[in-house]
Amino acid sequence: MVCKSILSQKRQRTENETRSAKLSDLDVLDCPVCFEPLTVPTFQCDDGHLVCSLCLAKVSNKCPGPGCDLPIGNKRCIPMEKVIEAAFVPCRNAEFGCTNSFSYGKVSSHEKECNYSQCSCPNLDCNYIGSYTSIYSHYISSHLYENMTCSFRSSALVRININEKVLVLYEDMEKLLFVVQCFREKQGVYVTLRSIASSTPKEKISYWLSCNVDGHTLAYKSPEMKRFLEVSSHQIPEESYIFFPNSLLCGEMLEMSLSIVIFDGEWL
Ligand SMILES: [Zn+2]
Ligand SMILES: [Zn+2]
Ligand SMILES: [Zn+2]
Ligand SMILES: [Zn+2]
Repeated sequence: MVCKSILSQKRQRTENETRSAKLSDLDVLDCPVCFEPLTVPTFQCDDGHLVCSLCLAKVSNKCPGPGCDLPIGNKRCIPMEKVIEAAFVPCRNAEFGCTNSFSYGKVSSHEKECNYSQCSCPNLDCNYIGSYTSIYSHYISSHLYENMTCSFRSSALVRININEKVLVLYEDMEKLLFVVQCFREKQGVYVTLRSIASSTPKEKISYWLSCNVDGHTLAYKSPEMKRFLEVSSHQIPEESYIFFPNSLLCGEMLEMSLSIVIFDGEWL
């Protein structure tokens, strides 16, 4: 008799699939160690402390729960995994027009690509913040005369004063903004190119920089270019840059040949 009533309750629920629940605190779905969303698999110790699979690798199978050093890693937390998979949240940019929602563990990877992510105008004196879809048109209408054009079809000669730090280039076919940035350090200057894209580029983009100084040629070919939401003039790039030692600098101006290329896994 009891079994029958549970069965009918269950049937009622599957028939009424649109019912949803509200979670008052999304933090309960985050890993208590790295605070990133828990994903499948999620592990638990015998006392019920949770850890995500990325953190599990770092804790050497010892539970990181407060005052707990039980072993962890053999037992998955299946109920929590079910909750994670069933929890759908709207994209953080819903208020700016994004209509996507994802299971909680996947929403952050969408947000990195979301066309409605808010980015800052690459002109360091401008306070404009807008979505990828509007940053290009803002730039063209507000700062066109301060900058230069670039193209996927030909290389450009880029002259930048290393003290000015930022030179913005716009590409009018794909409607993309690129930023050449200089970072002055004791031993020399780091130069990098970053992309403030108006949308997820369909193609992978990479760049070549080369420079001739006193018979020396410095050249750099980048891996796939990443998009940036904000141009920071303080943070020296950790990857993807060309470095000019002081001995190869003459004055404050750098003159480089820049090619921005589209490639699809293979180099064209
Ligand atoms: Zn974690
Ligand atoms: Zn524990
Ligand atoms: Zn979105
Ligand atoms: Zn601006």
